[in-house]
Amino acid sequence: MSTLRRLAVSAIFLVIAPIAQAAFAQRAPIEIVADLTDAPRRLFHADISLPVTAGPLDLITPEWLPGHHMPDGPAQDITGVVFKANGKTLTWRRDPVDLFEFHLTIPQGVTTLNAHLDYIATSRVSAKMAVLEWEDLMLYPAHRPVRDIAIQPSVIVPAGWGIGTALAPVSKGPFPVPAAGSTTRFAATYVEQLEDSPIITGQYFHEFALAPEITPRHYIDVVADHPEDTELRPEFLAELSNLVREASALYASHHYHVYHFLLTLSGVAGGEGLEHGQSSDNGVGEKGFADAAHQLYNADLLPHEFTHSWNGKYRRPAKLYQPDFATPQQGALLWVYEGMTQYLGYVLAARSGLETPAQFRDVLALVAANLDYTPGRDWRSTEDTAVASSVLRHLNPAWSNWRRGQDYYYEGVLVWLDADTLIRKKTDNRKSLDDFEKIFLGQGGNTGPLILTYTFDDLVKDLNEVVPYDWAKFLRDRVYRINDRADLEGIDRGGYQLVYEDKPTATERTLESVEGARRGGMDGWYSVGLQLAGDGRIRDVRWGGPADKARLAPGQKIIAVDGQVYSPERMAAAIRAAKDSTAPIHLIVQADSYVSTADIDYHDGNRFPALKRVESTPDYIGDIIRPLTKPENAPAPEKPSSDE
Ligand SMILES: [Zn+2]
Repeated sequence: MSTLRRLAVSAIFLVIAPIAQAAFAQRAPIEIVADLTDAPRRLFHADISLPVTAGPLDLITPEWLPGHHMPDGPAQDITGVVFKANGKTLTWRRDPVDLFEFHLTIPQGVTTLNAHLDYIATSRVSAKMAVLEWEDLMLYPAHRPVRDIAIQPSVIVPAGWGIGTALAPVSKGPFPVPAAGSTTRFAATYVEQLEDSPIITGQYFHEFALAPEITPRHYIDVVADHPEDTELRPEFLAELSNLVREASALYASHHYHVYHFLLTLSGVAGGEGLEHGQSSDNGVGEKGFADAAHQLYNADLLPHEFTHSWNGKYRRPAKLYQPDFATPQQGALLWVYEGMTQYLGYVLAARSGLETPAQFRDVLALVAANLDYTPGRDWRSTEDTAVASSVLRHLNPAWSNWRRGQDYYYEGVLVWLDADTLIRKKTDNRKSLDDFEKIFLGQGGNTGPLILTYTFDDLVKDLNEVVPYDWAKFLRDRVYRINDRADLEGIDRGGYQLVYEDKPTATERTLESVEGARRGGMDGWYSVGLQLAGDGRIRDVRWGGPADKARLAPGQKIIAVDGQVYSPERMAAAIRAAKDSTAPIHLIVQADSYVSTADIDYHDGNRFPALKRVESTPDYIGDIIRPLTKPENAPAPEKPSSDE
């Protein structure tokens, strides 16, 4: 069953919900004032006024947050909690089981409870910027639907800092750069919607309008640690406008009243990609979009998070939606929520010119090869990585190929490419997954921010509306079953073949030049079975591969290769030389403070993934990434490969 539910955004109509607890009386919205003036010292403050009546009251902070796919609410970083009524401090007690919950008793005659709390901001903050996800400061009545709890937010930012947000300001003062010391009030909303409406703020702030001909309006708000970084390149801005046009054409609907891409450029504030209905919180390094190489590395971030406004926020798996932020979310359909978004994010990045067709194909080759060389698929289905998502996030890479990680993201790329090419083949290229997205994500037309839940059966029904087929079996075979090989059917049907070449693609070389963890590293995954950092440290060993047989382990460091001090080039040269030899590749390896030798018996040469066009077959992959709209800056025709 689907549920269509209206959420208020800037509207002032406040539903007075049935009162679940005697002491919380929603005569008026909760008022929350977030004070970010201490953000450069990693502290946020909040003053919260709640309408109450006498009696026991349970207040709660969130635990299961939408989009996090794990219970990581901010309870451990909330400090300085004080409750006052009529000027007197009230005692409180934490619930012994639900550690996110506070118990109080409101005295007779009290109608307003004043709460104060501080939050220790350990990420998404620097000396010059801060990101406020409101869940870090919110405190609200427990055991009632968060969509029904009215709340009116305000914020105070450091003098001169600008504000980027999809919240609607109602203060009279200047915006988005408020007067020094002033409090910026936003329209009343609901706890569920406020959690979905972050703020970025910074001294170096710039807001750019995108695709001005499109309604509703779209903006990108940028804060950076250094003023010059907020001046986004005109080409990048043109491609983002193309992204807005392409998404509007692809999804044929909007589920927001305004959309703000919120972007932090900082070497300090950390990486992020968190979806919201009317905005997205995107964090990259300070030069994250400053040149073509960095843009390639981050090309799908904004298309991915933008797509989530439709797929994930509007359409949400029924059990991933819970009426409060305390009930555990169930991730079984994350291969749709995240996996289809990953696919659509790649497609939109290419259609909008954020990456070239060749880069799209090279990235697809890397994704497919990586999944095909994930031995953990021998014991675990893709669906299981989704069900277990909350224990698979943010883990050490060691042996992750045997455990499997959050593979539902990238498996989704292959499964939905498979579905896209199958629809194209069955309809002689007259229909595609685009037609499905218009039905599935555009249901109800333009809506404003709603949540419309779905089940596996709903998904299958909408696919059948495009092309009748046994889609339930198609999806179950690929996602629910254990498959020891990755789903390469979409690549094959799309007119290409996954091959392994003796040199990395230009895209892989570029990615390695900017990628933090692998910077200057060596991709020996498809040859010796090693993923190496630039200094020879082993990030991971492929289970069952040649390096595994040589008893190498993640965390060890290769010091020497065939008698010479390690470098990525020497490692590649040794793999090349071993192809014409029966002698093993001889290594000296450091494990903790011990040194030993290891011999890798491998003779098939260097192998790096690439897609090779199969001539005389339809190039559906080329069709998939062709823009639907007229781009503002048409991408240059593909140049001949610059591979040496
Ligand atoms: Zn996502």
